[in-house]
This record gives sequence, structure tokens and C-alpha cells, in this order.
Amino acid sequence: MVMDDYIHIPIPRQKTIALIAHDNKKEELVSWVKDNLKVLRKHFLCGTGTTSRIISEETDLPVKSYNSGPLGGDQQIGSRIVEGRIDMVIFFWDPLAAQPHDPDVKALLRIAAVYDIPIANNRATADFIISSTLMDEEYDRKIINYNKKMIERVSKFKDK
Ligand code: PGA
Repeated sequence: MVMDDYIHIPIPRQKTIALIAHDNKKEELVSWVKDNLKVLRKHFLCGTGTTSRIISEETDLPVKSYNSGPLGGDQQIGSRIVEGRIDMVIFFWDPLAAQPHDPDVKALLRIAAVYDIPIANNRATADFIISSTLMDEEYDRKIINYNKKMIERVSKFKDK
């Protein structure tokens, strides 16, 4: 087990979904959320500061708020992914505008890939994810077993 290449961590039936949209994409995300209220209602929602506030004002959904993106909200969401507390990300980012927190955006996309977290970067992907039967099921994420790597790296270091 300790030396397996991958470990499996479940995404539960009731998921914690992070919602994030850059300014030019906020309207689109709000409209997507409104189109998918029925499904989203079954899960826990959270998001970056401005996005979460707009969604909770425009809908009756409770959305837990992190800091605004430029103030570290994307990094907070990344850290919750590392801790296993966020299961999915819907992130409508703006491909046509540079953001002051571009490195944070890249970091979030990377950490989502490391932890095998479903992440939608546009409406079409979000539509495919939200209409998946897996939204109502548990799913096993497959994550590289870094413990094994660490053991190997530590023993390499000791051998020097
Ligand atoms: P915001 O942050 O919801 O506070 O606007 C989103 C982002 O820019 O990452």
C-alpha cells in the first residue's frame, strides 16, 4: 500500500464545488449557475470573494466565501484541494485579459491536475461535468503516491 504508485481518494456523492469567474466571465457563470440550480443545490458550494457574493445575491444558493482572487482566493481554494476539502472546480477564466494574479491561476490549475480534481475552464466543459451521472455517485480519484517518491528520495539522500 505504502509503495503503490497511486493512492485512491474518493470524491463523495455530495461534492464541495468551488466557483470562480474572472470579471468578464462573471455574468456567464451566474447564468450557468441559474441553469443548473437543481443539481447544484444538492452539493456544497464555495468560491472566491466577489464571485461567491454575486452568486449568493443572484440565486438563493448558499456559497461559502474565500478571499477575492487577486487577494489570494485562488490560492486558498488550491490549499483546500490539497487538504481534500474541495472536490471540483468550475473556473470561468478570461483567456483574453491578463490578470494581476496570473501565477495564482496557473498554480490552481496545476494543483487541480496533481490531485485529479475535475476542473471546468469554460461553459461547455462545465455542462459536460454537471450532466455526468458521476455527479450523483462517489468517484475514486487517482493521485500519485508521493509518499513512495519521498521514501525513495530520502534513501537516495542518505546513500550519498
Ligand atoms: P473574485 O476572484 O471572485 O474575487 O473576482 C476571481 C478571480 O479573479 O480569480
